[in-house]
Amino acid sequence: MISEFQIRVLPDVAFDMGNLKKWLLEEKGLEKINAIRILKRSIDARQRTIFVNLTLRAYINEQPEDLVYTPVQYQDVSDKPSVVVVGAGPGGLFAALRLIELGLRPIVVERGKDVHQRKLDIANISRKQAVDAESNYSFGEGGAGAYSDGKLYTRSKKRGNVEKILNVFCQHGASTDILVDAHPHIGTDKLPGVIENMRNTILRCGGEVHFQTRMDTIVIQQNKVVGIQTNTGDDFRGPVILATGHSARDVYSWLYANGIEIEAKGIAVGVRLEHPAHRIDQIQYHRGEGRGKYLPAAEYSFVTQVKGRGVYSFCMCPGGIVVPAATGPEQIVVNGMSPSHRNTAWSNSGMVVELRPEDIQIENGKMIIGDAVLETDLEAIERVIYPHGNSQFSILNSQFSILNSQLKTLAFQAAVERLCWMQGNYKQTAPAQRMADFVNGRLGGSLPESSYAPGLIPSPLHFWMPDFIASRLRDGFRHFGKQSHGFLTNEAIVIGVETRTSSPVRILRDNDSLQHVRVQGLFPCGEGAGYAGGIVSAAIDGERCAEAVIKYMEN
Ligand SMILES: Cc1cc2nc3c(=O)[nH]c(=O)nc-3n(C[C@H](O)[C@H](O)[C@H](O)COP(=O)(O)OP(=O)(O)OC[C@H]3O[C@@H](n4cnc5c(N)ncnc54)[C@H](O)[C@@H]3O)c2cc1C
Repeated sequence: MISEFQIRVLPDVAFDMGNLKKWLLEEKGLEKINAIRILKRSIDARQRTIFVNLTLRAYINEQPEDLVYTPVQYQDVSDKPSVVVVGAGPGGLFAALRLIELGLRPIVVERGKDVHQRKLDIANISRKQAVDAESNYSFGEGGAGAYSDGKLYTRSKKRGNVEKILNVFCQHGASTDILVDAHPHIGTDKLPGVIENMRNTILRCGGEVHFQTRMDTIVIQQNKVVGIQTNTGDDFRGPVILATGHSARDVYSWLYANGIEIEAKGIAVGVRLEHPAHRIDQIQYHRGEGRGKYLPAAEYSFVTQVKGRGVYSFCMCPGGIVVPAATGPEQIVVNGMSPSHRNTAWSNSGMVVELRPEDIQIENGKMIIGDAVLETDLEAIERVIYPHGNSQFSILNSQFSILNSQLKTLAFQAAVERLCWMQGNYKQTAPAQRMADFVNGRLGGSLPESSYAPGLIPSPLHFWMPDFIASRLRDGFRHFGKQSHGFLTNEAIVIGVETRTSSPVRILRDNDSLQHVRVQGLFPCGEGAGYAGGIVSAAIDGERCAEAVIKYMEN
């Protein structure tokens, strides 16, 4: 017999199988339990006493099924028509896997290195203060999601779609805990193995994966995509799923310079906020001892409105680290991630302010945000955005000036990142300030120990960050400090700058066919195209694009 229960228990029962079994035998009057399988788990920390809600199955006289997820059957597609997938992030990888499921042959083209080789380049950002523009926290196999937290929750309401994505992750080696937890995450130590297994499925089924191969041109004839050309001199033919992520600035620039319709999109800009994890545990679990033996590192989520713009926490990483996520020289970008056990001494999150394209004004070649002019070296910004150079496109070329164009949010993002790099002493050492000092407009002196490996430099962020952002962040922090006693503290630091919260551009596509609004056979996909935000939503969009390609090929 199998009995299903929904129970509300204390953490020492919920997170210890022996205690849970004992509790069930006593409370539910069972005589025997062979095995327990937890189906859903969520922590309710709203009150002083913390409860865990569990939905579980108790196997009384039998053994549980072997598999807790539904595996996908991937077929041999060696002799099937090819589809080009540009980018091996979650959008591209899930598109490729879905193409195989549907009987098409993916050719995946990825500018960065494979997920293991990438590690060295990522380590060099801290060791040598050097950012490889083709292999970093955003570029390389697995995309921006590979060295991330692997948080897998999404606002998508379509449970079926989310479950499918989680199942595919499990089939490729992720812990089946992700099917159970209300806020599932894989962890940065486990993700590379899962991504490698996905690549092996693609190869085993007859698909191709090309690393260190950058798409430089989309070949279009009479408004129809024929294929792509790469920096390695290769031509790949077929419809194109363009899943290049939010940091492929050269791709946006190429699209813009070649008249492919895109539009400026809003982003959110701010800082990474890092607290001692113990402090966050104390606040969120309402007790001096913090998380104790059974509870995981605590999460938080804040949101408010300041002067008409949203101010909110983003991509919170309990027990994680702050990472240098720049994608090229002359920029500092910070982000966060955490290992599967979420057991570092720090907890961090992006703290960002909503920014709309209309918030950025251009007057006489200057970028104005709010009341302030952002001092910018336009040639330097151009170098950063378009590192390969191309006479067709130039900020200083009046025809394609990004300042007045659909690339203006991107230009602003790049300008803030460059400003931060200058404040960081022209290295990856990030400017940082204690949180209460930032709020009170004090420089402050020393900084506490931090997880940010390239090192920090004390800096008055309240002073040099555009006031449009800094003043809203300060008000936001005051508000969050009132909501959560102890949150606004000088034990915490703000680290500049968090800018890659989403794509600064939307590549316009038709809602039904998912093709570009004018160019047939071009499927803008995932976060970079402006249709997803996060690993799961990018993966869902990848699957949808694959399904749209098959319809296109059938016509
Ligand atoms: C440090 C960090 C932590 C994060 N943590 C989380 C998290 O915990 N949970 C979450 O949901 N999201 C997280 N994110 C965001 C998440 O990673 C992205 O939302 C997601 O990866 C977007 O998927 P994508 O496939 O659309 O794009 P990406 O993952 O950005 O992938 C795009 C790929 O395209 C490649 N590419 C770009 N241009 C070209 C070209 N011209 N030719 C060939 N290849 C190209 C890039 O190298 C890259 O591999 C994090 C991001 C970072 C940077």
